[in-house]
Amino acid sequence: MKVQEEILLGKSVEQLTDWVKQQGQPAYRGKQLHQWLYQKGARSLTDISVFPKTWREELKDYQIGRSNIYHRTIADDQTRKYLLSLGDELIIETVGIPTSKRLTVCVSSQVGCPMNCDFCATGKGGYTRDLTCAEIVDQVLTVQEDFQQRVSHVVFMGMGEPLLNLKEVIKAVKILNQDVGIGQRSLTISTVGIPKKILELAHRKLQVTFAVSLHAPNQTLREQLIPSAKYYPLPKLLADCRKYVEITGRRVSFEYILLGGVNDSSEQAIQLAKCLKGFQSHVNLIPYNPIEEADYQRPDTQSINLFRNVLEEQKIAVSVRYSRGLEANAACGQLRAMSQ
Ligand code: SAH
Repeated sequence: MKVQEEILLGKSVEQLTDWVKQQGQPAYRGKQLHQWLYQKGARSLTDISVFPKTWREELKDYQIGRSNIYHRTIADDQTRKYLLSLGDELIIETVGIPTSKRLTVCVSSQVGCPMNCDFCATGKGGYTRDLTCAEIVDQVLTVQEDFQQRVSHVVFMGMGEPLLNLKEVIKAVKILNQDVGIGQRSLTISTVGIPKKILELAHRKLQVTFAVSLHAPNQTLREQLIPSAKYYPLPKLLADCRKYVEITGRRVSFEYILLGGVNDSSEQAIQLAKCLKGFQSHVNLIPYNPIEEADYQRPDTQSINLFRNVLEEQKIAVSVRYSRGLEANAACGQLRAMSQ
């Protein structure tokens, strides 16, 4: 199926008003359309019962830009993992993670990913294309509809490297904030680090939470785990992160996957603490989710706690994030791999 050129999802209330006027309708229908798209989650224009019947009939084949759920798994902890089929039939992953007070959506920013990090299943599948802002927003609306609950948080931690698709990601952030109604601080952009892009993001002065996937306390090890680190040496990356804090006045979160026997020793914890000394930051330790295509081990609980304790002794703010929905054999990138 061909992707229609003019997708309605992603347009502001002003743009939607222009569109309804072009269709020969009164301007107030723009506001109605906006509400049905972003608040009520309409899947097609025929859903919009406040529109006149004859007009809805004319528009019945008009694509508004919603994906279809191709596959869904529900884990014991109620985490739902989706494979969504896009207008051009490509498949992306989205995850809905409920807790007592929150509903978090983990969104993809690209179909696949070109970064090829050694521990990541998505990277093993290669990169196909960037997502549009509509395709990013659609993921949030899909989870909201499926859970019948408002989404409170969004993390750009699904497939892809958000800073390689910064324009569409920023557009999506604005729509999620202004049109869907999610607070900017509840939106997290996570990156492995792309030269120049961290400062570009900083100058946009968004209120979003910013996370950097560090995973190693020195350049040699980081290059082994993350091939692109060769082109963005650790000291430069950390200097850009410090500038990010200066420019935005907001702290940076660092993600650190714990890989047993690779990056989880006490010496490495001390080295990591040195990198982050005097830095307004927070470290999220993520015990490795085993994937079929790589040979790493998830460290045992004792090593995880030891690593955390060493960081705490060094006065580094730290928390451990256990992945949800593991038993569904659906860790990062694994659902898509199952569909092929
Ligand atoms: N490209 C971005 C966002 C996508 S990955 C980034 O690198 O930050 C989101 C997070 O999941 C990253 O911290 C990534 O390193 C982590 N991740 C990828 N594969 C993982 C695995 N097998 N186990 C645990 N975390 C993983």
